[in-house]
Amino acid sequence: MAKTREFQTESKKLLQLMINSIYTHKDIFLRELISNASDAIDRRHHLSLTDEKVDAPDEYEIRLTPDSDERVLRVEDNGIGMTEEQLTSELGTIAESGSQAFLEKLEQEDPEIIGQFGVGFYSAFMVAKKVIVRTRSPYAETGYEWRSDGEATYEIEPIERSSIGTEVILHLREDDEEQEEDFSQFLEEGTIERLIKKYSDYIRYPIRMEKTVTKTDDEAEEKQTETELTTLNSMVPIWKKPKDELEEGEINEFFKRQFNEFDDPLHVVHTSVEGMTTYTAMLFIPKQPPFDFYTDNYEKGLQLYSKGVFIEEKNKDLVPEHFRFLKGLVDSPDLPLNISREMLQHNRELRKIASHLEKKVKNELEKLLKNDRETYVDFYEAYGTILKYGIYDQFGANKDKLKDLVMFKTNKSDAYVTLREYVDRMKEDQEAIYYASGKNKDQILSLPQMDLIKDKDYEVLLFTDDVDEFMVQFLDRYDDIPLKSVQKSESDLLDEEKKEDLEAREKEHEKLLKSLKKALKGKVEDVRLSGRLKESPVCLVSGEGLSLEMEKVLRQMPGDQASQMKAQKILEINPDHELFNALQTVHSKDKKRIKDYASLLYHQALLIEGYPIDDPQEVTRLMTELLVEASNK
Ligand code: ADP
Repeated sequence: MAKTREFQTESKKLLQLMINSIYTHKDIFLRELISNASDAIDRRHHLSLTDEKVDAPDEYEIRLTPDSDERVLRVEDNGIGMTEEQLTSELGTIAESGSQAFLEKLEQEDPEIIGQFGVGFYSAFMVAKKVIVRTRSPYAETGYEWRSDGEATYEIEPIERSSIGTEVILHLREDDEEQEEDFSQFLEEGTIERLIKKYSDYIRYPIRMEKTVTKTDDEAEEKQTETELTTLNSMVPIWKKPKDELEEGEINEFFKRQFNEFDDPLHVVHTSVEGMTTYTAMLFIPKQPPFDFYTDNYEKGLQLYSKGVFIEEKNKDLVPEHFRFLKGLVDSPDLPLNISREMLQHNRELRKIASHLEKKVKNELEKLLKNDRETYVDFYEAYGTILKYGIYDQFGANKDKLKDLVMFKTNKSDAYVTLREYVDRMKEDQEAIYYASGKNKDQILSLPQMDLIKDKDYEVLLFTDDVDEFMVQFLDRYDDIPLKSVQKSESDLLDEEKKEDLEAREKEHEKLLKSLKKALKGKVEDVRLSGRLKESPVCLVSGEGLSLEMEKVLRQMPGDQASQMKAQKILEINPDHELFNALQTVHSKDKKRIKDYASLLYHQALLIEGYPIDDPQEVTRLMTELLVEASNK
C-alpha cells in the first residue's frame, strides 16, 4: 500500500525552484546524485567495520544506466540505502546547510547561483519530470520505493528488494527547442562520460556504465559493436592529483562544493609530506568568517581521510584555536580506518600532522604578508581578531608563533604596520613600542596623553579592537623592546631635566595636590602634575594592573565579577595650563571651592577617555554655578 505524504514547506520552495529553474547548467544534477551515492557507500563501509548488521559487498560501485527507449536514466549504488523513516526525513525535508544557505540567497534572483551550492537530491527535478527512488537499508525488513513529480507530495511504498543500496530513476523531461532545453543528451554515453570527467572524476568508487564499443573483427574484416562495462572516473581525489594537473578553478569549485561555501577561497594551501609522517592536506581560508565564527557555536576542524577513505567530518585536533578559520582536509595513510574518535584524540600521527600543519600555515601566512600584502590585509581584516586572541589565549603560550602576523594602524599610518616594520623605523632615541587604546583613530588622536608623543614624533599603534589590550598583557615585548601604553605612567617619556623640574613643582604645590586628592578620594588613586600635556588641562592614566581600556571592556561583559573590576586611575594635571593657575588662586582664596573644581576636572577627564559621568546632575549643577559666577565677574 502506497502512502502519500506532503513535503515540508522549505522543500516545496526548493522543489518549485528546481522545476521552474532557468539555470543553464542543469547537468550538475548528476554530480549531486553521484556525490550522494558516494556518501552512502562511505557510510556503508564505515558501518560494516563496527556493526555486524551491516556487511560490505565484494566491491563498491556506482552504476549509470541510460535507457533511451524508456527515456530514463538510472543512478545506482550499493551504499547504505534508506529505511522508510529516512526516506521521509532525508528526502522529504531539507536539513542540509547548503540548501538552507541557498534558499537564503534566493532573493538575489540570479539563476546562476544554483551551481554554487550543493543543492542536493532535489536538483534531479531540474531534468526529471518524475523521480523514483528504490532502496533497501540493512536496518529495514524490506525495500521501499519513493516517488514524486516534485509537486506538493510524494509516495512511499514497500517493495521487494534484496540488495542493499539505492537506485535513483529519473524520467527525463521532454526537450524544449524553444527554450533550447535538451534533456535527451543525458541519455547519451558521450555526454555522461564528459560530465563524470568534469564533475565526479575524483569520486573514490568506480562509476561504471555499459558503453558501446566498436571492434574490428580482423577475420571478417568488419566492424562490430558490443557493449563493455567501463569505469568512467579516474578515482584520484583532487587533493592527490599533482598540482600541475589541476585545472584552474578546479580547486575552487571543489572547495565550494565540499564545504558548502559561496565564494572562492581567499587562499589555498595544498601540501604533501612524505617521510616519518606522511599526509596530504588541502587547506582553505574562506574569504569571510561565518556569522558564528566568534561564538561558541562555531566548530573548527578539518575533514579526515585515510587513503582517500573518509573518516571524520570535523577533526578538531588538527587545527589550533588561533587558526580556527581553516577549512579543508587531511588524508594520511598512517591512520587506521576503523579508528574511533576517542582513539583519534590520542593518536600520535595525528598530533604530528597537526603540528606540521600549524607551522605550514604560519609560514604560508608570513609568505602572503611578504609577497601579497593586499590579500594578507583582506585575510587580516577577516581574521586578525582571532590571531590577537591567540596571543592572549593560554597565557601567551603561542605568542611567538603569532607576533609577526599581527598588524596595527598607527597615528602615522592608515595602512597596517607589523611590529617588525614598526621597530625597524623607530626613532633612534625611542625606547619602547607605544600604543594607545580607544574607540577609533580620531578619538585616540585627541587623547591628551598623545600630546607629548606628538612632540616627540613617535609612532603609536592604535589599539581599537577590544582584544588588543588583553593581547598586550602577554605580548609585552617585541625584539626585546617593551610595549608601553601612552595612557599609563609617563616617566620614561620625559627627559631627566623635565623630570626634576616636575618633581620640584609637585613639591611646591604639594598642598593643592593633597586637597585635590582628598576631594577625589575613592575616585582616583593619585593626583599628579603631568609633563606630557600640552593643550589639555587634565587627563586620566592608569597605574599598575588593569588598564582603563580593559576596565571599559570588562564593564560590558556579562557577570558581576568582570564588571566590578576597576583600573587604578591617576588624574594628571597640566601645570602649564591656565586652569592650573586658576586652581591655585581658588585654593588660596576658598579652600572649600576646590572640591567643586576637583570634581569638574575629574569628570572632564572621564569624558575625554570615553567613560560615562558618575553623577551628571552634580556636574551640571557645578557647571551652571561656575558659569554664573564667571558672568558676575
Ligand atoms: P545532502 O546529500 O547534501 O545531505 P541531499 O538532498 O542530496 O542532501 O540528500 C539528502 C539526504 O538523503 C542525504 O543526506 C542522505 O541521507 C539521503 N540520500 C540521498 N541519496 C542517497 C543515496 N543514494 N543513498 C542513501 N542515502 C541517500
